[in-house]
Amino acid sequence: MRYADLSDYVRVNPISKIKNIGWLESGFEYEFGAVSDLALRNLREIGRASYPRLYTFNRMRGYHYCSICAVEKFSGEADRPKGNGEILVPDKTNLGSYFAAPALIVHYVENHAYCPPDEFVRSVECIDLACEFDAEIAFDALRLTHEQMVKLYKSFADQYREIDQPEYSKYRRWLEAHRLL
Ligand SMILES: [Zn+2]
Repeated sequence: MRYADLSDYVRVNPISKIKNIGWLESGFEYEFGAVSDLALRNLREIGRASYPRLYTFNRMRGYHYCSICAVEKFSGEADRPKGNGEILVPDKTNLGSYFAAPALIVHYVENHAYCPPDEFVRSVECIDLACEFDAEIAFDALRLTHEQMVKLYKSFADQYREIDQPEYSKYRRWLEAHRLL
């Protein structure tokens, strides 16, 4: 998978409020440079953070392997640098807009001197990990119509009815907040 930095996010349907960042692929040029310690630390943190500070989404799509690292360096798939899903970063200058990057972006910055565009780096530096964030709900709100989202969340709320954990009951709470339950 290779998407140019700052291109519109298109997987199924185009989502102009999300810009692609950091989809590096061997054979394609990319920007080199240093990234601030703060940005790198926040990138690492948001990759690991979990609900209710959830910056990762599309995890069910599975692993994405680094194609820039020489495959011969590793003894098998298990050793190869890989990331699961994507991270969603709120754009600090355009409220309601986001950047989406592969989870592997931390590896690209640390091991391949990749320097993402300034607007992305500044937005990552501004992330406050004390605040709650839900990348899955933010992403659904952009990719689905309101009616589709209601239908999907009603089915999730039903499916996860018996699971008493906030990351599962969040669909019911979203419906309640929208006065749909
Ligand atoms: Zn690599």
